[in-house]
Amino acid sequence: MIEATALTKRYGDRTAVADLSFTVRPGVVTGFLGPNGAGKSTTMRMLLGLDAPTSGHATIGGRSYADHPAPLHEVGAMLEARAVHTGRTAYNHLLALAATTGISRRRVDEVIGLVGLGDVARKRAGGFSLGMGQRLGIASALLGDPATVILDEPVNGLDPEGIRWIRNLLKGLAAEGRTVFVSSHLMSEMALTAEQLIVVGRGRLIADISVEEFTHQA
Ligand code: ADP
Ligand code: ADP
Repeated sequence: MIEATALTKRYGDRTAVADLSFTVRPGVVTGFLGPNGAGKSTTMRMLLGLDAPTSGHATIGGRSYADHPAPLHEVGAMLEARAVHTGRTAYNHLLALAATTGISRRRVDEVIGLVGLGDVARKRAGGFSLGMGQRLGIASALLGDPATVILDEPVNGLDPEGIRWIRNLLKGLAAEGRTVFVSSHLMSEMALTAEQLIVVGRGRLIADISVEEFTHQA
């Protein structure tokens, strides 16, 4: 469970997130929907303690991560996808991350299979396409088998096959009882992926609504 309470973030006189309160329940995929610049990334960074709120607070699984990073086995996150600048193979990149947190090599193999990186795991991650980079980012997020998964725009730039794959992966994670919170600016995609929607615009909550209700109103 994720709980945001009156989260507010100002950058100078610009308000990125304004008095945002919501709950993300386990067991369903919750979409965080809004246009670019609506405050989704800023909100996710505040949930993860990577950005300090101007006011308000957030908890994940009842804990606040404002002062220390969430352990990989509690919260797995992928923030804005960017190329991994490494000469390492994808496999060794994950292995290094696993080693710092006591995660087994077996789990690395498992996660590589889960995200469909098997064919390229021995290739240099620095040379990956956007889609393969996303898969690697998601693999990193899932490495610790976390109860909560937070992904910022995971389908950005993916081809239809990659998008379908992520959709199924997210639904599977939720079906296992995890809390899955995923942002997108694409209503059509969220309607297919999520059951619950937190909709934001200009940093403010516009709707907290089931996809079913939302699509019947629209
Ligand atoms: P989204 O993820 O929905 O696209 P963001 O959270 O990235 O939105 O951005 C929300 C608003 O906050 C935007 O107007 C953006 O320009 C602004 N913003 C985000 N990060 C910073 C920053 N570090 N400094 C100044 N403004 C920022
Ligand atoms: P070790 O004796 O170090 O446990 P392994 O036989 O498991 O060695 O792996 C040797 C190297 O092969 C690893 O460092 C890694 O780079 C690579 N490797 C092992 N398993 C995989 C895999 N499933 N996918 C990609 N590379 C792998």
